[in-house]
Amino acid sequence: MKRLTGVLLAAVLVFGSAESSEAQQRFVTMGTGGVTGVYYPTGGAISRLVNAKRSVYNLRMTVESTGGSVFNVNALMNGDIELGIVQSDLQYQAFNGLGEWEGRPQQKLRAMFSIHPEAVTILAAADRNIRSIEDLKGKTVNIGVPGSGQRVNALDLFTAAGISPDRDLRAEGIRPAEAAGMLQDGRIDAYFYTVGHPNGSIKEAVAGARKVTFVPVPEELVKKLAAEQPYYAPALIPISHYPGVANQGDVPTFGVKATICTSADVHEDVIYAITKEVFQNIDELRKLHPALEVLSVENMLEGLSAPLHPGAQRYFKEAGLL
Ligand code: GLU
Repeated sequence: MKRLTGVLLAAVLVFGSAESSEAQQRFVTMGTGGVTGVYYPTGGAISRLVNAKRSVYNLRMTVESTGGSVFNVNALMNGDIELGIVQSDLQYQAFNGLGEWEGRPQQKLRAMFSIHPEAVTILAAADRNIRSIEDLKGKTVNIGVPGSGQRVNALDLFTAAGISPDRDLRAEGIRPAEAAGMLQDGRIDAYFYTVGHPNGSIKEAVAGARKVTFVPVPEELVKKLAAEQPYYAPALIPISHYPGVANQGDVPTFGVKATICTSADVHEDVIYAITKEVFQNIDELRKLHPALEVLSVENMLEGLSAPLHPGAQRYFKEAGLL
């Protein structure tokens, strides 16, 4: 009997249309970020929760390492992935047709919920005497691969600070997984990473022989940025996560939130199931990565600017959260 069910299921998978069978398994992929960031392990944690209920939802979730937020929005809109982790600033820009998407609002982008806060982090080699944003001039600075969130944030910061990334410094486009090693090897002087703390990339860079330091973003500059781009807010990088870093106290900068997005084309039942599994297991999720310790039902509903996907909305209504 079991065998027969298997054969029938396989037949449905091969020949069936999307809605033809209750028993059909749906496959969803989440686009995350680099393997040494927080998106990738967070995606892994969410997929484990969802896949544990495979028999209930007929859902199988996989996670992909990607270039980051901008890549994820575009892949969602192309239908290449069904879920993507996207910085709140980029969710706003994509849905409203700004920045990378100037004049091309991504109308099918849908929000599900927020996860952890992310700080625009600039890590520099202490021997290069980079104490301020100005000191990045003349240096080799990794601003991140095209498609990453940090690249957008770095360019916004340079604009606000009156620094030209083409004339004033050598801007590189390297993946965060390689940036820590390159900082240690002396191939770059500093790198940008918009990321939750703690994370593997910064830990790796701090653990090396070359002493490193976080570069602060002064309050006036954060105010100037936030006045024009209200999705930016002040943030602090807690140095307690990184013993050995040259800074003496927590480092001021600006930040955003990581959010989970999807497309209007993804089935309501799929998004309902994933939202429900995440919200019913927040305690579990908090334990799965130290950057997720701050999660709460309240803050997971903040930072969303695209319309809520109907599947997420259905769960939030049912749980009395809306
Ligand atoms: N915020 C980064 C981005 O959107 C990714 C950070 C991470 O992978 O944790 O590109």
